[in-house]
Amino acid sequence: MENSECLKCGGTEFAEGTDYMPIKPNKMSLTGSNKIYTFCLNCGEVESIRVENTAIFKKK
Ligand SMILES: [Zn+2]
Repeated sequence: MENSECLKCGGTEFAEGTDYMPIKPNKMSLTGSNKIYTFCLNCGEVESIRVENTAIFKKK
């Protein structure tokens, strides 16, 4: 995530955080994955949202 610049304010300091709700393949799934948000520390613009565990979304 180095060398990235905020599209809104041009800031270069980013932080990562996660959501309290896991993302799931469907409503019935028991397993979910954390979403990792990368956002600008200056203005809060979300630069990217990443799914931590993509394996559970792959077709078997
Ligand atoms: Zn910013």
